[in-house]
Amino acid sequence: MAVTPCYLDHNATTPLRPESAEALSHALEAWGNPSSVHAFGRAARRIVEDSRRHVALLAGANPAMVVFTSGGTEANNLALRGCGRARILVSAVEHPSVLEAADDIEAIPVDGNGIVDLDALLAMLGDGRDTIVSVMLANNETGVIQRVAEAAELAHAAGALFHCDAVQGAGKLLLDFRSLDADMMTLSAHKIGGPKGAGALIVADHVHLSPIVRGGGQERGRRNGTENVPGIAGFGAAAKLAAAEVETGEKLLALRKCLESGLLEHVPGVKIIAADVPRLPNTSCVALPGISAETQVMALDLAGFAVSAGSACSSGKVKASKVLRAMGRPDDIAACAIRISLGHSNSEVEVDAFVTAYRNFAERAGASAA
Ligand code: PLP
Repeated sequence: MAVTPCYLDHNATTPLRPESAEALSHALEAWGNPSSVHAFGRAARRIVEDSRRHVALLAGANPAMVVFTSGGTEANNLALRGCGRARILVSAVEHPSVLEAADDIEAIPVDGNGIVDLDALLAMLGDGRDTIVSVMLANNETGVIQRVAEAAELAHAAGALFHCDAVQGAGKLLLDFRSLDADMMTLSAHKIGGPKGAGALIVADHVHLSPIVRGGGQERGRRNGTENVPGIAGFGAAAKLAAAEVETGEKLLALRKCLESGLLEHVPGVKIIAADVPRLPNTSCVALPGISAETQVMALDLAGFAVSAGSACSSGKVKASKVLRAMGRPDDIAACAIRISLGHSNSEVEVDAFVTAYRNFAERAGASAA
């Protein structure tokens, strides 16, 4: 009988919450166009606006600030390309949807833990009136939490706009758009138990955002195209639950501690990346020097555990992590690190079983390398 694999890859995506699936399937029946003024359109519009309220509550923003998009990637592109600033400065460990959103993006260096170098940012800024700065809330590969409010303060003092990719922070950290002092912030539904293909850019009232796709003026002219009503409905339902769940982050943190102490105790040579700086409660980036991440991920998959090698690459191929390289880690770490990202359904029993499987694998791999 096939054994159900244990899912430890929640930063890649999360299981769809039943409440989200239900809201989504209910919204499929409200098939009217939300821009139509008749009753069919109004039914769909109600769903979109209800979700907007829930997403705004999760983000600590006003509903009017929420611009629905097709996901985090589009929201990041919209923020950086739609803001009308010629210079784009982003931390060197951003997700590719930020790092590659435009030509001539300048990378702000990070320290050995992946935390953005604020002195370097200050030196790069100069007169920032034609600049946007983007620094993520927490890194998808390492879980490291950035000094976002300080970076925002520097950016604003120079006259620059500030954007924060909060995709990995949502549901794990308390989000508060107002106190973060960002001008724009990105969210994605499928990282909080919602469906893929829905996300949002939170945009402060004073930001003039031009759409990057031209069309019919939806989302108050900031994002054209008929809204993905079912996806947005699922996003709203997930956002409502994620907002309530942040307080249970302690449970995730306890599991992560159990995981990391187990690995350090039983797997000789294992390294926990950025172990001593603030990180997301669910994320561990673990390196086994000399054993490629691809080999590790495949062996663990065979043993029944789903983890990933840094950022999941759409081609399925695993390369040395650009994030770890930007942190100055040598290739025997950057090419040999896996990410274990826990979720609320994971248990201590699963974590213990993972530690045993990893120890067995490391012993075998060490023996075959010897
Ligand atoms: N930003 C970060 C930090 C992410 O981890 C991801 C997805 O992995 C994205 C943006 C992209 O979001 P989406 O998959 O919704 O396009």
